[in-house]
Amino acid sequence: MAGVSRRAVLGGALLGAAGVATGVAGAPLVRGWLGLDRLPVSGGYAAAADHLEAVANPAVSVHYYAQTAEPVVAFTFDDGPAPHWTPMVLDELDKAQVPATFFMVGRNLSEHAELVRGRLARHDVGSHSWQHDDLATKDLAQIGDDLDRTQSAIRQYTGRTATLFRPPYGHLGGSTLLAADQRGYDIVLWSMEMHENTYRNDPAGQARYIVESARPGSIILAHDAGGDQRLVTIRGLAAMFDGLRRRGFRLVTVSELLSTAAAKPSTSGQMPVRAVGPSR
Ligand SMILES: [Zn+2]
Repeated sequence: MAGVSRRAVLGGALLGAAGVATGVAGAPLVRGWLGLDRLPVSGGYAAAADHLEAVANPAVSVHYYAQTAEPVVAFTFDDGPAPHWTPMVLDELDKAQVPATFFMVGRNLSEHAELVRGRLARHDVGSHSWQHDDLATKDLAQIGDDLDRTQSAIRQYTGRTATLFRPPYGHLGGSTLLAADQRGYDIVLWSMEMHENTYRNDPAGQARYIVESARPGSIILAHDAGGDQRLVTIRGLAAMFDGLRRRGFRLVTVSELLSTAAAKPSTSGQMPVRAVGPSR
């Protein structure tokens, strides 16, 4: 079977790496050169190579944008819920009637569930891990526990079941892919992000960048937790929504973005919306 031979090949590669790392004089240097002191090969990044038998339905997909001719974009907000920022983001979304996708940190949700209670009907809720650890440094069992604990919180506090998962830092290891696959998640990264340091104190500039850079299928990363730089984004949201709609875009959840792309795959790669003018 292809799976068996692939596992054998991967296993051989791992043994080879371990042999080099431990079998020569000056091993620490070699280990450092290979990155093995920082990046666990077995039990960490590459752990999927040890557990191919655990794949129940090898169909995990990773999306950083959606290939579609439909003029749709999706805003995503990570790391919340958080006091102050999450209610402000929800207020802006409500004012413009824009659906968005919140990639929630399970611990934050358990501590601040009241911030989102009754306010998520129009929105997607995705998993962003329990406490924003770098999952690529963990093994399969640890990541599984993390994802399950997060899902339990999402179910308990929002009544929803997450089907989307975004790894903290966008950092994907083999174990993360496999744990997500076992649970039937779609993994969602992003194709655009806010540049709050570039546009410090310039929400209009931040908004203009997003409006002018968006393409059909863009997945836009923002945050509803963190420091004061979030104000650049939050104060620019109304202008982003308005500007994107003027360009003909529909603002949708990630789920809708992915289903739109699946239903009507792009055949031309051409951008159907009109180019944005020089106006602000
Ligand atoms: Zn994050």
